[in-house]
Amino acid sequence: MDKKVVTRFAPSPTGKFHVGGVRSALYNYLYARKNGGKFILRCEDTDKERSKKEYEDYFLDVFKWLGLNYDEYYRQSERTAIYKKYLSKLIEEGKAYISKEEIKEEGQRSEVIRFKNPNIRINFHDEVLGDLSFDTTDSKDFIIARDLETPLFNFTNVVDDFEMGVTHVIRGQEHVSNTPRQILIGEAIGAPRLIYAHCSIILNEERAKLSKRDPLVLPALGYKEEGYLPEGILNFMSLLGWNPGTPEEIFTLKELVEAFSIERMQKQPAIFNVDKLHWVNKEHIKKLSGEEIEKNILAWLKPAYAGFRESILIKLIPVILERISKWSDVKNMAEKGELDFFFKQPEYDKSKLIYKNAALEKIVSNLGKAIVVLKNLDEKDFNKENIKTKLMDTADSLDSRGELLHPVRFALSGLDKSPDPFIIAEILGKNETISRLQKAI
Ligand code: GLU
Repeated sequence: MDKKVVTRFAPSPTGKFHVGGVRSALYNYLYARKNGGKFILRCEDTDKERSKKEYEDYFLDVFKWLGLNYDEYYRQSERTAIYKKYLSKLIEEGKAYISKEEIKEEGQRSEVIRFKNPNIRINFHDEVLGDLSFDTTDSKDFIIARDLETPLFNFTNVVDDFEMGVTHVIRGQEHVSNTPRQILIGEAIGAPRLIYAHCSIILNEERAKLSKRDPLVLPALGYKEEGYLPEGILNFMSLLGWNPGTPEEIFTLKELVEAFSIERMQKQPAIFNVDKLHWVNKEHIKKLSGEEIEKNILAWLKPAYAGFRESILIKLIPVILERISKWSDVKNMAEKGELDFFFKQPEYDKSKLIYKNAALEKIVSNLGKAIVVLKNLDEKDFNKENIKTKLMDTADSLDSRGELLHPVRFALSGLDKSPDPFIIAEILGKNETISRLQKAI
């Protein structure tokens, strides 16, 4: 019988958890869930100087926000006794030794624990990168601990994978170079070989390696603050270095569990394309229920329109929804005043009412025609469908539709770009619409 799949994600709490890490975390999660296995989260906080509690809390918050549930949680700082046992055993067996190091400046000696390198060639198969081969001689007898109480990253990482029964290691490519040393340590402690899958590198849109400082990239919770949906982020990250093998691109977390496979992780670099992120997130917004969309849009809208009646704000929801890809876009639209025309008559440069080279008289006459047909609509029938039918009928009878539709839209919004005039008219209501058209004339 095959061994139960156990995966782990092992962040070091030395900085704010980065969105790139979300991808490795997600793949480990998906692979474990797909195979009915176990997903472990392990805080690799052996570096006492650089590890901070706040960064541990940060990645825990990210996991919570994203809904990536783990089955077990460990902190390496609480496992010193375990590492000590393995270190002592290696020393006893002659596979590691205490060596006295010269500290040059002060002429002092300090002790470290070095791994006795068997100087062999290590071959391993990476599920993404293929067959790899490394000569480990260059690593010499490398340091695995400062002392019995202070093991270093490569050592604790290997001991824990063994102790925790990990079967698959899915992680970033920066760890490929650690792998041969980790395999050597693994063999020395009698651990079975792990299955490795190193994710493709992520590039920015200029095809340069995406760094943690790239302005494109926020620390993971930055996406929460910007009003992205967890499912949007997970979906987008899933496609950076994996593809489902079908044209389908939109997946819920549950669907990703179904669709994911290590075989479809790709070797070629993935591009962090912000437009795609926006598109994916928007697709997930569209999947939300009407109430959820309303609740979110109102929450992001209200700070800018604190004094306004909710009944008016609610009317704006369809217009806003069409133009956003994340919730903070709502706030930005409001702050830029792009919605102000709904609440007060717009001020504008009246020459802009004129469509292309149309004669002024024509524009004035067309605005008049629009008023006539709209006046004929009952208040209770004053909705975008009816408004559209009436205005389009009239516009179609003219030389150019634009000579009616443009001045009407501009008179209502005062903006070069705005939603179509039918929806604006519906939201403004009959009286306000007609009053704005009259003012334009
Ligand atoms: N603690 C390592 C890191 O943060 C994880 C290494 C691994 O996944 O094996 O990069």
